[in-house]
Amino acid sequence: MRQPGDYVCPQCRLPVVPEDESYVCKGCDMRFPVLCGIPDFRLSSDRYLTIAEERAKATRLHVYAQTHSFAETVAEYYRITDDVPPPMATRFADYVLAGEARGRSMLDSFPPADGNRPAVLDVGCGAGGVVVAAARAGQSVSGIDIALRWLVIAQKHLSEEGLSAELVCADIANPPLPDAAFERIVAADLFEHLPDTGAGARAISSLLAPGGCLHVTGANRFTLAPYPPAGLWGVGFLPAAIRRRYVVWRRGLDTLRFQNMQSPAGLGRALTKAGFECTRIAPMTVSVDRVRASEGAKRIALTLYRLLCSNALTRKALLHIGPVFEITARRTPGMPSSKRT
Ligand SMILES: [Zn+2]
Repeated sequence: MRQPGDYVCPQCRLPVVPEDESYVCKGCDMRFPVLCGIPDFRLSSDRYLTIAEERAKATRLHVYAQTHSFAETVAEYYRITDDVPPPMATRFADYVLAGEARGRSMLDSFPPADGNRPAVLDVGCGAGGVVVAAARAGQSVSGIDIALRWLVIAQKHLSEEGLSAELVCADIANPPLPDAAFERIVAADLFEHLPDTGAGARAISSLLAPGGCLHVTGANRFTLAPYPPAGLWGVGFLPAAIRRRYVVWRRGLDTLRFQNMQSPAGLGRALTKAGFECTRIAPMTVSVDRVRASEGAKRIALTLYRLLCSNALTRKALLHIGPVFEITARRTPGMPSSKRT
């Protein structure tokens, strides 16, 4: 079983060794720095910032977090991020702060099969909602994200709660983790951010032990409610050029320019092609705790949503037109590892 800190080179897949605040690959000589206490195994950055800009922003947030709370650090992130218009920043910050409640509900619907507690990997862990929920439940958990800036915030989230977990900065298409190292993987709000759905699904499949379980949540492009990442109606139905103009008109910039919008059926097909058997495709589960933790109009909407989920017919409709869906899938035993191409 993999021990935290056992990494492989994301480029050539040979083991790396720790050396002077970094990890070095003896196969291809690549050196990967440890920044803000987090190993950075990226071969390239996400599409919003260059690696240098990204590391500078992460370092700035890391310094800020030394003297401020998790919630204040999240607010600071949105203050220094031009890419998110102010009306959306408040909504996104609330979403981030409720991450542990969502993570808890996700882990509850995705229990270890045999009663023991094998390690969980959260791919695209962001501010660490699932990681904190798993660590609090005493589960061994690792979080991986391509954004060091978000991992710094996740690190603050963990330390504020007196918890610890392994955090790794890397592109999931080139993970620094050994094949078949995990029996449970969570990918919440991940696939709409990946440029290549198939490559991401294959990489996740190779990280899972045969028979291991994957739990995915995602925004539904064909929702009749506002599309969650944009807070706008109908954007998933529009051709790309018209969508771009519409989002710029409404938001001041194209906040969806890097979105790879997904639907439950489309993502289910991509997972099947990558070696998964989808055992459940459903509208996203909302726990009673989440309803209790909400207020006002949101509480009414979540109560109504749970009511619709409790009836087979309306649940089926909600899968196709609801805002968020979830998929539970099992890696087909016998699928070869490392088929990432
Ligand atoms: Zn290498």
